[in-house]
Amino acid sequence: MKLYDLPDARGHFGPYGGTFVAETLIAALDNLRENYLRLKDDPAFQQELAYELAHYVGRPSPIYFARRITEKAGGAQIFLKREDLNHTGAHKVNSTVGMAMVARHMGKKRVIAETGAGQHGVASATVAARYGMECVVYMGAEDVKRQAQNVYRMKLLGATVVPVESGSRTLKDALNEAMRDWVTNIQDTFYIIGTVAGPHPYPMMVRDFNAIVGKECVVQMPEMCGRQPDAVLACVGGGSNAMGIFHPYIPHESVRLIGVEAGGEGINTGRHSASLSAGTPGVLHGNRTYLLQDENGQIIETHSISAGLDYPGVGPEHAWLKDTGRAEYVSVTDEEALQAFHDLCRMEGIIPALESSHALAHAMKMAADMRPDQILLVNLSGRGDKDMATVAAHMGMVV
Ligand SMILES: *Cc1c(COP(=O)(O)O)cnc(C)c1O
Repeated sequence: MKLYDLPDARGHFGPYGGTFVAETLIAALDNLRENYLRLKDDPAFQQELAYELAHYVGRPSPIYFARRITEKAGGAQIFLKREDLNHTGAHKVNSTVGMAMVARHMGKKRVIAETGAGQHGVASATVAARYGMECVVYMGAEDVKRQAQNVYRMKLLGATVVPVESGSRTLKDALNEAMRDWVTNIQDTFYIIGTVAGPHPYPMMVRDFNAIVGKECVVQMPEMCGRQPDAVLACVGGGSNAMGIFHPYIPHESVRLIGVEAGGEGINTGRHSASLSAGTPGVLHGNRTYLLQDENGQIIETHSISAGLDYPGVGPEHAWLKDTGRAEYVSVTDEEALQAFHDLCRMEGIIPALESSHALAHAMKMAADMRPDQILLVNLSGRGDKDMATVAAHMGMVV
């Protein structure tokens, strides 16, 4: 099968992906897959989705030429896909709207979600409010403490936030707990996963909903520059914003695809979240992929200044894109990301998410070694309002 047509019928991307779950979930995942594949080809559903994306999310998002950043980098032209301008401030709403609509068509009245920093929880609470569904968000107790603002946002939107006290009390434990809820309440509950991970069909379904980002770029770039970019860059946590912009570009073989992982304090310090750059294959959260694990297969604690990249796994499609060489994966440290964050604030008047700042940092690095007629397209996955306290603390201030 061609890369673009993956996964296969059983959810495999080469040796990655699949369905590694308890027996009790198999029927529910089969049911979800059948419903999703039917709706995907249903013109009425697609029309409804297009309406929601245009009028609720605010799509299409523009592409912006970052002139002053380009001058500073001193080489290739740097363009930004402005996912920060979406309703709720990031790309996550692209897939939460899509999945909430699938849930509605399946007659589900209750949605659940896991969240780390709270961005996916907020996006899920938002669409649950929009469609009048009950929403329960699982969040590690440690993260509940660190992300009080987002917890309050979710509550304002009508969601129930459940602090998870098991394990390291962070994102991976929240995911485990959400899975447990799903097994128990499978009849009326839809699980909205926050990235292109989890068992089949989630990596495919979340990618398809986020692929609107790349589909728009494929049309917008020739309109703006007369051609496609030389490379497309995106940050990679679980990998949904990256898969969203990469996937429509897979058949465009002259376009390099570059995923930027969180190098944290440096790959050699062990304090990072770079699963593809420094991990090994294993099974986590229902699929086979690259993981940060010790020799016994125990998950290692991860670190990144950006909570959204702080995940020990990565979507299985990225694992296969890496092995096949169609995409390249690099890492950027906390310090480099912060530098790019400040550059974009001061030189373009755009406050980016710390996650997106990783992709921008690598683009500026790359651009310097390229010609001025070459073009880089960066997925600016979200805005930085949520990161004010983190950035201020790093500069020794309190806001
Ligand atoms: C959650 C988040 C990410 C990381 O998630 P992916 O699935 O890797 O895209 C990146 N950027 C922003 C703004 C986020 O909120």
